[in-house]
Amino acid sequence: MAKSVRDQLRWDGTLSDPHDTPGVKGKAQARKELAAIGPQLADLQERLFANGKVGGDQRVLLVLQGTDASGKDGTVKHVVGLVNPAGCRITSFGRPSREELAHDFLWRITNAAPSAGQLGVFNRSQYEDVLVVRVHNDVPRPVWRRRYGRINTWERRFVDQGGTIVKVFLHLSREEQQRRLLARMEDPTKHWKIGPDDVAERQLWDDYQEAYLDALNACSTDVAPWYVVPADRKWYRNWAVSKLLLETMTDLKLGWPTPPGVDLAAMKQQLLGVS
Ligand code: AMP
Ligand code: MG
Repeated sequence: MAKSVRDQLRWDGTLSDPHDTPGVKGKAQARKELAAIGPQLADLQERLFANGKVGGDQRVLLVLQGTDASGKDGTVKHVVGLVNPAGCRITSFGRPSREELAHDFLWRITNAAPSAGQLGVFNRSQYEDVLVVRVHNDVPRPVWRRRYGRINTWERRFVDQGGTIVKVFLHLSREEQQRRLLARMEDPTKHWKIGPDDVAERQLWDDYQEAYLDALNACSTDVAPWYVVPADRKWYRNWAVSKLLLETMTDLKLGWPTPPGVDLAAMKQQLLGVS
């Protein structure tokens, strides 16, 4: 049997080539497979939603991390475009507000977590607090060091409560990031995406890579492993993230529930005027 995409992309201690396409030969094959993945994912998400409606506790959280221009927004658009947005809960995490800063770093994460039946998508996440915060020395080292364990505890709790987490690091090459940032600058319809610090942040590339490696190593657990998705090719990224979700949600073995208290036979008789 072919190795699952989860097995191929699960973090194993070494970063893959961002230009690689493990599990798929080329764009044409990816497009063909995606045409089949879309309806399957939509079906699974509807089952998840249906189960949540009748008291099931299962929920799914897709966490997207990656440097600027790694394709987080594009991935959200693609994945959510395959399913019913009514069952999705999408949250983008930016610089914390004053209120958020007054709370523990996991406060806004807990508030945004999907509830039963929902497919949650985090565009950036709890990991910013061991990435950008670390790189910029926003808190002392002992404080961010403790956060890896705290994140693991939070994720385990989420899983204990019926959650399933798919954590994706969109692994972009430095060269491709430069190309994409340049393309943004040259296209007036993309200027809105540019932040004043984008180039300065890029100069901290090595610090970010080191912080990413530590986060992958410290927080790839059995209950919530990290997946590294080579992100230089957008078509591959979309295929891989969809496939990771598909494999994960297939494993949930979601059936079609009947609400408790619904006696179908009796109701059918009543509907037909038999009794
Ligand atoms: P964007 O994703 O382009 O909208 O930018 C969001 C910005 O918010 C990025 O520069 C992130 O690094 C930053 N950000 C997200 N979470 C945090 C955090 N916990 N602390 C500081 N900055 C953050
Ligand atoms: Mg940005």
